[in-house]
Amino acid sequence: MNRALTFLILILCAAPGAHAEWLQRTEDGIMGTRIFVELWADKPEAGRAAIDAVIAEMQRIDVAMSTYKPTSEVSIVNAQAAQHPVKIDDELFDLLTTAQEYSRITDGAFDITYASVGYLYDFRAHVHPSEQQIEKALPGIDYRHVMLDAKQRTVSFSQPGVRIDLGGIGKGHAVDRGIGILQSRGFDHALVTAGGDSRIIGDRFGKPWVIGIRHPDHKDQVIARIPLEDAALSTSGDYERYFDENGVRYHHIIDPHTGQSARKVRSATIIGPTATRTDGLSKTAFVLGAERAIEIYNRLDGIDAVLVTPDGRVLYTKGLEAPGEPLKASPKP
Ligand code: ADP
Ligand code: MG
Repeated sequence: MNRALTFLILILCAAPGAHAEWLQRTEDGIMGTRIFVELWADKPEAGRAAIDAVIAEMQRIDVAMSTYKPTSEVSIVNAQAAQHPVKIDDELFDLLTTAQEYSRITDGAFDITYASVGYLYDFRAHVHPSEQQIEKALPGIDYRHVMLDAKQRTVSFSQPGVRIDLGGIGKGHAVDRGIGILQSRGFDHALVTAGGDSRIIGDRFGKPWVIGIRHPDHKDQVIARIPLEDAALSTSGDYERYFDENGVRYHHIIDPHTGQSARKVRSATIIGPTATRTDGLSKTAFVLGAERAIEIYNRLDGIDAVLVTPDGRVLYTKGLEAPGEPLKASPKP
């Protein structure tokens, strides 16, 4: 057989079936944010069922982990863990364990007990705590207050006044679970997004997916475009949930050391192998500042970052300084 013919047969064999198509869905209001799922489906029926399953998974995680729902497992922990150990589901136990690990590798910049002060803010109602309120609640912030018993599968708090909130890692976790569902059903090209956290399987039309990073002050201006395949990406920004008062921006990323909004960068975008990890790391630069955060990111395997500083500089980690090839963050086989 001549080579041209062999090539033609290969192309025909690789061509998708007549009904293969890209499917998309957007859902608002799960985990307080927008969910977006896009995938390439050889069989659209199976594609739609898979998207349903991803959305249902996000709803399940929201019910278990939201602090806005008084019956969630996390709300029960907040209500009881200072009095006695609370038995929790393996999924929550593992996520709390991961959260502790991120606190350690970020020198405490990531800390789910930020909520001990964080609950005093209401960004929609333009409410922030007074200096006295912060001073009183601040001793509750320290990830070492959260004690995990791996044998009993329980969590307890070392003292009263401690609260946890998974807003800084839960969406990444939900995205990874969604991607897991799609992988187990055999999808090779997909994107799952929850708010600022996304993960991608494969490429898009034979080319990398291109994710834009917006300018902190101008929604429609893109400051960098990042080509990605098989990777996760999380962006945190001080423009997501905030209000300005007397020239000061109060926003949703809290410095665990001060209980104030963390203002050392305007936005941080992290690229890595899983969305749980990129979500957990995207708060760090706000607290530690760009230079120290870049040092930490450069030390971590498979992590890259793009940071925008308050004076408008854009800083990149080593791996991004000369992006030519699409970034593949998945672990090497
Ligand atoms: P999104 O909610 O869009 O995913 P981020 O990933 O930037 O946004 O997460 C912001 C959330 O992280 C806040 O709303 C809060 O719930 C939580 N958070 C704030 N400060 C910290 C911190 N220092 N450590 C861990 N989580 C934090
Ligand atoms: Mg996030």
